Amino acid sequence: MADRYCVFGNPIGHSKSPAIHTRFAQLTGEDIVYEARLAPLDGFAAAVRDFIAEGGRGANVTVPFKEEAFRLCDRLTPRAQLAGAVNTLSFDDKGVLGDNTDGAGLVRDLLDNLQAALTDRRILLLGAGGAARGALGPLLAEQPAQIVIANRTAAKAEALAGHFASLGAVGACGYAALAGRGFDVVINATSASLGGDVPPLPPGVFASGALAYDMMYGKGDTPFLALARAQGVARLSDGLGMLVGQAAEAFFVWRGLRPPTQTVLAALRIS
Ligand code: NDP
Repeated sequence: MADRYCVFGNPIGHSKSPAIHTRFAQLTGEDIVYEARLAPLDGFAAAVRDFIAEGGRGANVTVPFKEEAFRLCDRLTPRAQLAGAVNTLSFDDKGVLGDNTDGAGLVRDLLDNLQAALTDRRILLLGAGGAARGALGPLLAEQPAQIVIANRTAAKAEALAGHFASLGAVGACGYAALAGRGFDVVINATSASLGGDVPPLPPGVFASGALAYDMMYGKGDTPFLALARAQGVARLSDGLGMLVGQAAEAFFVWRGLRPPTQTVLAALRIS
């Protein structure tokens, strides 16, 4: 019988994860089934227990349950511990193991799909929520010259920078304090694009040849990518490759195989 996996979220109807993992299974010959499961807002832990009782082997976790998933795990990988959030669960006789593959997915997309250099580069990370927190460890592992975290609530950026200070050069500020500073890679990890909004960036934050990356994805430019384009940035990417990358990393955690991602990403782009 096929091994069972799922993604928990609320809402979950538009998740691309079942299509991505089903394609990974076809491409690698792994015998798995993967479904989307709507967990009630007050019933995530019960939904996980039910899935384990039905024989589930693992699950992805998306909005709004990543922090609850972190608290529910019996064991955590070091990167999940650092991120303070879990997007990948594995179930075995020792209990629930929590991992976080979001940051690895981002870095793989930047390095492999976009051929972006990160080592010795100046990185600006916009936002200080869960996605920014998950990204920081894997980004710092690439040894950039510096990462500056800018956030609407500057105190949250400062707290995050303090948390990661031992791993590399991390600074923090509000948006106005970015005036006069340029960056080689600017990553939007805010949820501003969801509301059609953009962080208030002063002109000049995109250095010559900079890459603008929005973790959000969709048809056409997100508001952040439109702003970057209007400021003359030519290298632009949304976060669809990050989505496929985090899924590939979760597939590796569960199955020990790295699925090919580029064909899956290309198919999603035209669907
Ligand atoms: P959180 O709710 O944890 O954090 C939201 C962040 O956005 C905070 O820093 C918040 O600032 C900031 N923000 C919200 N609205 C605005 C605004 N109008 N102007 C400026 N800043 C704003 O969200 P997540 O970190 O979980 O997610 C962030 C984004 O990343 C989402 O768009 C999500 O879809 C995307 N994402 C994509 C993934 C992928 O695979 N491609 C994976 C994970 C996330 P403040 O602290 O001041 O409130």
